[in-house]
Amino acid sequence: MENLHTNVFDQSADGFARRLYSRFSHRTLVLLITLTSIALSLLLTFIATWYTEGVDLGISLIIATIVPAIVAPVISWIFIDMYAKLQEMEQQMRALATYDVMTGLLTRQAFYHDAQKYIDIAERHHEFFALMMLDLDFFKTINDTHGHHVGDHVLKYFGHFLSEHLRKSDIIGRLGGEEFVVILPNTPVEGTQKIAESLHAELKSHPPTLHSVAIPLTVSIGITIYNGAVPPRIDRLLQEADAALYLAKRNGRNRTALYTGEEATTS
Ligand code: GH3
Ligand code: MG
Ligand code: MG
Repeated sequence: MENLHTNVFDQSADGFARRLYSRFSHRTLVLLITLTSIALSLLLTFIATWYTEGVDLGISLIIATIVPAIVAPVISWIFIDMYAKLQEMEQQMRALATYDVMTGLLTRQAFYHDAQKYIDIAERHHEFFALMMLDLDFFKTINDTHGHHVGDHVLKYFGHFLSEHLRKSDIIGRLGGEEFVVILPNTPVEGTQKIAESLHAELKSHPPTLHSVAIPLTVSIGITIYNGAVPPRIDRLLQEADAALYLAKRNGRNRTALYTGEEATTS
């Protein structure tokens, strides 16, 4: 699944400059640019003096060597340095757009991107998959009782908890606030319900802690299964899982509901 990730940015800027930059070190690039400048300068000077009478070819060629030998390294070093900084900034922006800073999970935007890509593959190969939407229960109370920073700590914990308890091939994202979403490739309904139940149980036995004191935390889960019936769209699947999640909340929270068409059923 790794190859699906980190694709939020278009990679079409992968041009000549990028390839040169990735192949050679800064010093080698400066040397290459300087040598090319000297060669071009010599060639142009040679042609110009050839057609001009009374010009000393020797002195002209010396000047044509010395000037680019001094100017080209300075200018090219400045530009390569700027390019390196731009590359670094681009990488940071890419990471920010792809991974949620708080939890390290995929951002909403990256999740949509990776999910739709996976869904297209699943449709082509007639694969089952499940989409799970998770919303922490009474999270506002945790913020109100312990403070926003503890709320943040709980969100981080839950992000880590999901990464630990789900498979590497699962696509996990934070939709925003205390709402999370997971695509479980190749997972039929029974398997998904089992996983959801184990998440409820594991969260109960391993709650987040504050100064070694447990903060009770539960989660409501809405599930929808793609069974190859209709061409799947990520927004449609999210709506279905959201409808199931709504039912899980309405039926008392800390439970899982399955979307089954018109109605959802809880377990
Ligand atoms: P429910 O069981 O119905 O889901 O109730 P809830 O309290 O979890 O849901 P509600 O939508 O009422 O409150 C969600 C709270 O999540 C409100 C908001 O301040 C808080 N929240 C959203 N994003 C963050 C965040 O990044 N950090 C913290 N600490 N709180 C956040
Ligand atoms: Mg909530
Ligand atoms: Mg919510």
